[in-house]
Amino acid sequence: MKNLIVIPALILSFIALPAFAETTSPLAGKVVALDAGHGGTDGGGATGYCAGVPVAEADVNSAVRALVKAKIDADGGLGYEVAQLSSRSDRVADAEGANSDVLISIHHNGSTNTSANYTQSFVTQKNDKVFASYIHPKIVSALGLTDKGIKNDGYGMTVYGSLPGVLTESFFITNENEACDFLGARAHVQAEAQAMYDGLVAYFSRTQSGGGGKGRNN
Ligand SMILES: [Zn+2]
Repeated sequence: MKNLIVIPALILSFIALPAFAETTSPLAGKVVALDAGHGGTDGGGATGYCAGVPVAEADVNSAVRALVKAKIDADGGLGYEVAQLSSRSDRVADAEGANSDVLISIHHNGSTNTSANYTQSFVTQKNDKVFASYIHPKIVSALGLTDKGIKNDGYGMTVYGSLPGVLTESFFITNENEACDFLGARAHVQAEAQAMYDGLVAYFSRTQSGGGGKGRNN
């Protein structure tokens, strides 16, 4: 009688294990801090126009954050929404307090030249550069804009704390094509969010031999 119970259980475990292994995302159990620039008490940010209708950068940043969060959460990770505090160092402290593994500070660029449009990212610390090298190229290839590279300029939230982080400026919201896309199909923010997700999967799938440990280099 005992064998009749044990044998089906063994068969089930052989069937179930490979399927489980295939569907476990490298994001499972990871906490990704997602900062939407200029929201809450942190004002400012660029404003774009589509046929005279304004589009606030903060709204675009929030929309991208929601899309990325949904993808991470669906994979068993946590897209942690960083508190929208006025101080950047306080935002980083909030992200670190949530035991985040990495940080993406989502921004979109602005210019008085409304034809300007390109993709750029900012980092400060050594571990930022490793992380950004997985995220930035995915955004570039997804949007197909001019690649202005990853700048090491001591900029924004990447200055503070020790989380591997990147500040992204994926496109210019002051570019009318972008403003109109945001008010319409939102194809570009969807492509951007997918690129960030793909970059996160690649980052958390990497071998540890390439470094990426915590700690500042400047
Ligand atoms: Zn911004």
